[in-house]
Amino acid sequence: MPPLSVRQSGIREAATILAAARARALRAAGRDILSLTLGEPDFATPPHAIDAAHQAALRGDAKYPPVAGLPALKAAIREKFLRDSGLAYAPDEILVGHGARQVIFDALIATLDPGCEIIVPAPYWNAYPLIAQMAGATPVFVECRAADGFLPQPAAIAQAITARTRWLILNFPNNPTGAVCGAAHLARLAEILRAAPQVWIMSDDMYEHLIHDGTPHATMAAVATDLRPRILTVSGVSKTYAMTGWRVGFAGGPADLIAAMARIQGQSTGGVSPIAQAAAIAALNGPQDRVRTMRATYAARRDRVLAALNAIPGITCHRPDGAFYLYPGIAALIGRTSPAGRHIDSDAAFCEALLEEAGVATVHGAAFGLAPHFRISTACDDATLDLACQRIADFCARLGD
Ligand code: PLP
Repeated sequence: MPPLSVRQSGIREAATILAAARARALRAAGRDILSLTLGEPDFATPPHAIDAAHQAALRGDAKYPPVAGLPALKAAIREKFLRDSGLAYAPDEILVGHGARQVIFDALIATLDPGCEIIVPAPYWNAYPLIAQMAGATPVFVECRAADGFLPQPAAIAQAITARTRWLILNFPNNPTGAVCGAAHLARLAEILRAAPQVWIMSDDMYEHLIHDGTPHATMAAVATDLRPRILTVSGVSKTYAMTGWRVGFAGGPADLIAAMARIQGQSTGGVSPIAQAAAIAALNGPQDRVRTMRATYAARRDRVLAALNAIPGITCHRPDGAFYLYPGIAALIGRTSPAGRHIDSDAAFCEALLEEAGVATVHGAAFGLAPHFRISTACDDATLDLACQRIADFCARLGD
């Protein structure tokens, strides 16, 4: 076979995808497996979004789109940013991509050169370091401890910044911890960033509408308006409207950065299907009551899983304020032995034993850059969650010394 590029060689398949595939394979082989692996809402696309896509297809809106997004979708995104965060973006300050993932890819490829560094608070969604590495840049991880609410500490960020730093990534509510960062903490981070003009700031707000207990969503561009010329605010329809497969994400940011990102996108996908964009317009402009229902459902699931996990000796779970994940810590279980004799020397070993011996699929914390933890996604029904928690409790009760 002719050679493959060096660039692709460092890209591993995401642990979440691998764990979900493993659960599916075991199920197909007849095993009774409960999967709490995927970060994908278990709700349906809003009917008015489906209808809008249908109408767009019938109208023949199936030509090449403008690379950066349809004007009508940009207008809906502009309204969304104004409505949710008080942020005004002009049309040339908005980019529509194939999910937030592509928007993030565009941004990092458009700005990073070999030798650059990107600060990624850990734990993190694994795409940031992988894309940075594709660009030849070096991810610099800053540990965010459960004791600090999984929030990046300003002093630690300050220490990580060098002349080579090009990005600080902020993601709240966070995948995988569900942590939410308030305006006051963002303002403290902004203080540090004011002294580092070489650094772009990415606010990945994918889960912005999934915040519980009435906590308001805060985003850096609204908190530190003076830093707006170097802030990229990212969001999309995947999590808010349960539209992961439509592949529509977007960003607001300075026009020059958006133009560079569009140039990258122009040579990769050439823009998002107008039919999917029609669905996104309807989702953004249409009734928002389903979002409220989903949010309440996720909050109720969080409460039941949190209570069940924290009742298990050896597991400590920080209360997530948003998203649909829990990130329990298992430091007290490291060194124990599973019922079938597996040595639990890491969170990966714990998750492996939990899957094989208790039939519960989760994702180990090391895959998100902070161990020993594991991630539970609550994007499944109550019965599955209750049974999974029961199995985790039984499994932990049977661990040997
Ligand atoms: N950002 C975070 C933190 C995520 O968890 C995800 C998906 O899991 C994305 C971005 C990408 O979302 P999408 O590409 O579906 O818009």
